[in-house]
Amino acid sequence: MSLIYLDNNATTKVAPEVLEVMLPYFKEEYANPSSIYEFAKNANHAVRDARGVIKDFLNAENEKEIIFTSCGSESANTAIQGVLNMNKNKRHIITSKVEHPCVLNLYQTLEKQGYKVDYIGVNSNGELDLAQLEEAINYDTALVSIMYANNETGVIFPIEKISEIIKSKNKETKFFVDAVQVSGKIPIDVQAAGIDLLGISGHKFHAPKGIGALYVNSKTLITPLIIGGHQERGKRAGTENVPYIVGMAKAAELAVDSLKYEASEVKRLRDKLETGILKKVFNARLNTGAANRVPNTSNIGFEYIEGELILLHLSDLGICASSGSACTSGSLEPSHVLRAMNVPFTAIHGSIRWSLSRYTTEKEIDYVLDVLPGIINKITSLSPYQEELENLKKLKGF
Ligand code: PLP
Repeated sequence: MSLIYLDNNATTKVAPEVLEVMLPYFKEEYANPSSIYEFAKNANHAVRDARGVIKDFLNAENEKEIIFTSCGSESANTAIQGVLNMNKNKRHIITSKVEHPCVLNLYQTLEKQGYKVDYIGVNSNGELDLAQLEEAINYDTALVSIMYANNETGVIFPIEKISEIIKSKNKETKFFVDAVQVSGKIPIDVQAAGIDLLGISGHKFHAPKGIGALYVNSKTLITPLIIGGHQERGKRAGTENVPYIVGMAKAAELAVDSLKYEASEVKRLRDKLETGILKKVFNARLNTGAANRVPNTSNIGFEYIEGELILLHLSDLGICASSGSACTSGSLEPSHVLRAMNVPFTAIHGSIRWSLSRYTTEKEIDYVLDVLPGIINKITSLSPYQEELENLKKLKGF
């Protein structure tokens, strides 16, 4: 078996159709889209058309609400700092404990600058505590930033409901949504969901790394993060990355076309992988229980063993997945997301995230289901927790 790529929440392969539409903008159409001569017209129109595509992708009202950025992290940083700079008299922010580091690390910096940040918790399935959120909003809350779906668990947060809660408590509070892990997986409708600002990243839906977008509704004012020229209506300086912008727009069109496929076929393969593992491997547990998730993601804990070891064995067979741990200062620190969910210590170190894409095949899933039980058995036989494992086996009726 050649490469089996089940780490699509980390990044995705560039769709061939995306690469194809990008190439002319490297070769022939290399003009700066802001130039006024005839030669720049194609580049200029390509950026304009791409903005229209992304507007439709998010169901924004107006193209002017779309800002091209370099990535999801830049979109989040622009949104958060941009809103706070425009509301200097307000010093309170609300977010969740399970956001991506591009949001959480920024909030840590802002705390040092005197902002008060409330971090809303999740339950054991990874679902947001809405009552805690509602209670936290007050007259001083400048911004609530909540991700649309979590990158490690795939759990979708009820964005429309969250927006209702925010607006019912404080109409002036702005709502930023990090939608990096939902674009291309479920439909996004910024108007229906009552979102003020929303960030996406091209490389999570088959565009290249290095391109993203930020939606800012016409009622929301922000300062730019990158100061310079007048590009992006003064909200993001820097000559537009024409080939990548064109590529992301094509990726968005392809994503819209495959949303049904994601919801049916990608989900079916994800469920097949998930139920197959839970059936075949006695020490496997689904970390998200019955939570509502994006169709491509599964987070499974393997009790009493180390995730890194599983990944290395999988890698030997050409299978790419990822673990919930980050290697920090020589020790394996469990992920902040799984810790916030109180995943039992027996499973937290052995948690693996599987993330599929529309390119994942049934044959690949069958192969993983064939080889994984053997890998887990081998690692489990070396675990120092043999007594606990025997008890678990009996408990699960294996
Ligand atoms: N937000 C979420 C939920 C993510 O999963 C990621 C990347 O993994 C990001 C933001 C950052 O995106 P980028 O890599 O484009 O900066």
